[in-house]
Amino acid sequence: MPGTETKEAVTVVGAGLVGSLLAMYLARRGYSVEVLERRPDMRREVIDAGRSINLAISTRGLHALRQVGLEAEALKHAIPMRGRMIHSAKGELAYQPYGKDDSQHINSLSRAWLNKFLMTEAEATGRVRIRFKQRVTHVDFETGSLTVHDDATGETRREEGRVLFGTDGSGSAVRQEMDRVPGFTASQEQLGHGYKELTIPAGPGGAFQMEKHALHIWPRGTYMLIALPNEDGSFTCTLFLPWKGPVSFESLDTPARLEAFFQEQFPDAKALIPDLVDAFFSRPTGSMVTVKCAPWRVGGRTLVLGDAAHAIVPFFGQGMNCGFEDCVVLDGLLGRQGRWEDVFADFERLRKTNADAIADMAVENFIEMRDSTGSPRFLLEKAVEKT
Ligand code: FAD
Repeated sequence: MPGTETKEAVTVVGAGLVGSLLAMYLARRGYSVEVLERRPDMRREVIDAGRSINLAISTRGLHALRQVGLEAEALKHAIPMRGRMIHSAKGELAYQPYGKDDSQHINSLSRAWLNKFLMTEAEATGRVRIRFKQRVTHVDFETGSLTVHDDATGETRREEGRVLFGTDGSGSAVRQEMDRVPGFTASQEQLGHGYKELTIPAGPGGAFQMEKHALHIWPRGTYMLIALPNEDGSFTCTLFLPWKGPVSFESLDTPARLEAFFQEQFPDAKALIPDLVDAFFSRPTGSMVTVKCAPWRVGGRTLVLGDAAHAIVPFFGQGMNCGFEDCVVLDGLLGRQGRWEDVFADFERLRKTNADAIADMAVENFIEMRDSTGSPRFLLEKAVEKT
């Protein structure tokens, strides 16, 4: 660890992907870190890990893991995706490699595995304590104190003022509290599309039923289906569809309509999803939002990072990757040992323009993809070009 001296105690709200990695970075700098997480411990209880079952980690994200010695283990669980496999409505395939050779690829990784791994590694530093079922409901920026609801006991308590990091995701309670600070502005733009996750199970003996080392895409104009491979031989498919309109979550309201739609548009995928109807109608439909806010900090007391500061739609596969990069940049600034206020101001100056730019590009990319059925130039694969 770079820092052996023990520094002050700080608080991180949210033990998601970014909060867990941030805790590890802070611990390595000598801080004693208390992480408050509203969900139960996913290593002990079976819970939904969050916004998608798997995700693409690219160079940005891997670089952040490498700095804390976690890249090699993460890569053991990742499946390289070396190109995109485009599926036509007739089931024809067109493979487009990402680079001249296989070294240029992105990686499919289980979100739950990665989150659990990061939590365990953070705790293993000996300086991180993650407290579960602890929901932050109020932040007093004058004193820095927090109001926390303990979902296990039903009690609400106040916690003393410390430097606070808000990594509590796109619906961030910390960010919402910042709304009361004069001069703070925030915008949230919901996308007119939602998403649904479906599963292509492994074949006999755990075999992959489609090309393993590809990101599969079924581009169809106003909607699309994608699929990323999982370690167990399955694929997680994500259907992106408008909320309302002629072909939408609203219009696909019966099993017969759903099956006819899949048969017409995604016949090859339909043949591989045995529980299509059950899964579609029983699983939640996710929403996607772009969040921009400023400033990202309140003096030297509070800083928001990750989706809490800059949630983006997933069409670049860069949300987590950007959040991980936040941790690297903050860590570099902490190495200079300045006042929190200066560190936070520098952090925002270094990150905000980039985060806003990628948020806009992610939406533009979606519009481009949506409107150009025949030329599916979009999405996660661009992450390869950008990193
Ligand atoms: P989160 O992962 O949302 O974690 C926030 C944590 O804070 C959670 O554990 C939550 O329980 C906790 N919390 C919330 N409120 C409170 C509270 N009041 N008190 C205490 N705890 C609280 N990104 C990529 O880089 N690659 C991809 O391929 C990719 N694919 C995606 C696919 C989909 C369908 C979606 C929706 C997103 C995708 N993303 C991807 C984006 C990625 O999921 C996010 O950028 C990432 O999860 C952000 O991490 P985070 O830790 O900031 O927030």
